[in-house]
Amino acid sequence: MAQKIPTEATMEKIVSLCRRRGFIFPSSDIYGGLSSCWDYGPLGVELKSNIKQAWWRAVVQQRDDMVGLDTSILMHPRVWAASGHLEGFADPLVECKSCHLRWRSTDLEADNCPACGGELTEPRQFNLMFKTSMGPVEDEASTVYLRPETAQGIFVNFQNVLDTTRKKLPFGIAQIGKSFRNEITTGNFIFRSREFEQMEIEYFVKPGTDEHWFNYWLDERLNWYLELGIKRQHLRRRQHTKGELAHYARSCYDIEYRFPMGWSELEGIANRGDFDLRQHAKFSGKSLEYFDDETKEHYVPYIIEPSAGADRSTLAFLVDAYDEEQDKDEVRVVLRLHPALAPFKAAVLPLSRRPALVEAAQQIYADLRQCWMVGYDDAQSIGRRYRRQDEIGTPYCITVDFQSLEDNQVTIRERDSMKQIRVPISELKNTLRAKLSGEPFDTQPLWTTKG
Ligand code: ATP
Repeated sequence: MAQKIPTEATMEKIVSLCRRRGFIFPSSDIYGGLSSCWDYGPLGVELKSNIKQAWWRAVVQQRDDMVGLDTSILMHPRVWAASGHLEGFADPLVECKSCHLRWRSTDLEADNCPACGGELTEPRQFNLMFKTSMGPVEDEASTVYLRPETAQGIFVNFQNVLDTTRKKLPFGIAQIGKSFRNEITTGNFIFRSREFEQMEIEYFVKPGTDEHWFNYWLDERLNWYLELGIKRQHLRRRQHTKGELAHYARSCYDIEYRFPMGWSELEGIANRGDFDLRQHAKFSGKSLEYFDDETKEHYVPYIIEPSAGADRSTLAFLVDAYDEEQDKDEVRVVLRLHPALAPFKAAVLPLSRRPALVEAAQQIYADLRQCWMVGYDDAQSIGRRYRRQDEIGTPYCITVDFQSLEDNQVTIRERDSMKQIRVPISELKNTLRAKLSGEPFDTQPLWTTKG
């Protein structure tokens, strides 16, 4: 029987697992990596894509008041003048006069350089947007920016979406996409990188109802993490103080997660008031007012913005799922990922490489692949192979043994309890489907239920 041992999912353990098993690699690895840019490997791309899909399902597919959008990364430069990013999206930086390293002044506890103890310059503003140029001539007129958030693509399409979907307030627009920030303080793996993916909602409401909807989204978003398995005690809400509030925000809460380096922002939920639509109306000269059919009023909607990060969520789900337990004289590493997020839903393991077993196992593998991402492993002992699947979070292993050739049954082993059940191959898909959607592992199997 496995014994729980106190586990601390340190960043070193997570980074090492991610690299060893192909979740996440440093970008441009063979060239020594590129500072705070990351590549998702074969398992990482599945995990992150499952997180994005779970988000999309919850905030678009299952709701009548939300639609999706996918806008371009490069936008008209005036967008960033209107949004305030050209002026305001800057961090105060100080530079060390001896080693020339730059530091975010708000991060510093002492007056001297943390690296060499040298004297520091006065703080200077440093814009976090990446600049590039459009077209063949590199001059001022052709300067464009890589978007530092996906939100602006939603604001500037407010009227397009309204005209084409005939949605009525309150309604929201969701978008998943890459954003870029030339962050000063990076580090902590994928927690803060310079290229990252956001999952943002802009929810348009009638002024006066904004507080209600703000609280509503705060609950909804917190529950989303809980439903996907994040432990309650590892999540908390934190209200921004007046001094912290961004220039556009009327109020803001962070959903924080207890990361290995301490409590840090996982998602921000802001009441942006009518700032964004008013700014874009002013800068574009287009009216972005809403006409309320019921009250016959014209007004500029308020916006509630739940803004999450796909990479930061990936890190939180990995950290929260990481577990170690003593199993006989070995330590079993298990990623207790929610089945909806696990890269592989199952793995097919023939007991040995005997041709008859491999053939049967390959057939099952080919069949299951039509429904799910499924792994296959025939290298080394069955115990080792179970461990390998535990470590990458595969909820179920399907073992094909010699008996299977006689009775057309296979063994399913559950990752968390390591319990096993035997099922007819003809019932395998139905059983897996039921277990993956939450049916307890040891309930009466479907195929023996009478009547
Ligand atoms: P922080 O202060 O931690 O850098 P922020 O307050 O600037 O974050 P927001 O502008 O509110 O972040 O962005 C919304 C979400 O986008 C964050 O909660 C986070 O999940 C994600 N995010 C922002 N910046 C980064 C980054 N550099 N790397 C990874 N994810 C990020």
